[in-house]
Amino acid sequence: MWKWTQINHLKLIILDCESLNQKYIDFPYQHLLGVDVLKIESLDIDKNIDLDALIANFLIMAQCQSYEAIVISGDMTWLKKVMSYRIGTLFVGHLQQKDLKYMPDFVVDSIDSLIDVLSEKDKGYSGEVLTFENKKGSLLSCQTEIVSDDGKKYLTELYFGGRYYPEKHQYLLDDALSYMILKFKHEYVDIIDIFFDEAIMDIRKKEKIDTLTYIPPKPQDIEKKRFQRFLSLKLERNAQDGLMLKDFLSCQCDFSQKGNDLAERRKTVKGVFRVNGDVKGKNIILIDDVFSSGSTMIEAMKTLYEAGANKVIALAIAVSQMTESPFAYQKLVCSYCQEPMELMYYRKTHKLLFGCPHYYSHPDQKSMMSLRLGIFCLKKRNRLYDGSYDMMNREDC
Ligand SMILES: [Zn+2]
Repeated sequence: MWKWTQINHLKLIILDCESLNQKYIDFPYQHLLGVDVLKIESLDIDKNIDLDALIANFLIMAQCQSYEAIVISGDMTWLKKVMSYRIGTLFVGHLQQKDLKYMPDFVVDSIDSLIDVLSEKDKGYSGEVLTFENKKGSLLSCQTEIVSDDGKKYLTELYFGGRYYPEKHQYLLDDALSYMILKFKHEYVDIIDIFFDEAIMDIRKKEKIDTLTYIPPKPQDIEKKRFQRFLSLKLERNAQDGLMLKDFLSCQCDFSQKGNDLAERRKTVKGVFRVNGDVKGKNIILIDDVFSSGSTMIEAMKTLYEAGANKVIALAIAVSQMTESPFAYQKLVCSYCQEPMELMYYRKTHKLLFGCPHYYSHPDQKSMMSLRLGIFCLKKRNRLYDGSYDMMNREDC
């Protein structure tokens, strides 16, 4: 789904011509959509072009806001940069695993799928569409190579339902899928059950699947009797065909990946899984909720291959997104001490609000901002759409 773009207010399409096939350049966008089209012929972004000024210029020229513009490109390096300006992004081509942390709003591989996106026939990634509109979307996929300890290589697919935004960004993004994923850590979520059920059915149209399994809980999760989310799934349509989740994997020791870099993550997770039961010759779908660096998922896939599985396909609800960028969110600033305000829990009223680190010592409560007003002001500050043009013009922050 479009993350920032209000597609019914679309005013500008920026075409990165150098990376696009002629068909995409000649497409009658102007005629069909009544929008301005800006064709960029040659843009070497490594040559220190001031992208900030460039994008601002494009928007001024077309007299529009970032949520009224999209970029179409076949170059992920350029799209990655554009993303932090909150312009809609549409990538033409096939995603690679290294691009997953910066997933564009849409990935298309033909002019027909481009038409589907622009005419809103294709609503986007299945998990995002399902949580937002209760409709069906498409799975995002890319290929990956798994290398076993004895050097054998296996080419397989990773499938995803959408994008996951780290906790600190969620309130700003109002991201329905990310909220659902957080909820699923503690309780059964029917939308997530439907997502997995539908996604597995979709994969089964392309591949013969013998069985399903999941990333197992860690010993401490079992000991503390934490909610076992994957066991709560019913997967109704697949169950009718006799396909259920089986606990082929167990986790031998506790590990945490927080704060680790990729190399550390791979090291931490090495050898933590064991296979229970017979997976020899089987085609397996392995599920997890969030795919971050992929180290855990890939180690589990490798373990299954080493135990003789014929094919292991990964399916996760979402891929964790890198939202840090040089053009980071502009924070709210305290009018007393000029320090940035963060979202915090105010014990006196049991409410969430925005305040600076010293809000309790300021003379009055004007240094705090309610959740609603704070989010509105944050969106305005960051030039994000907030549902109505009138709201954007309000002056109280
Ligand atoms: Zn302050």
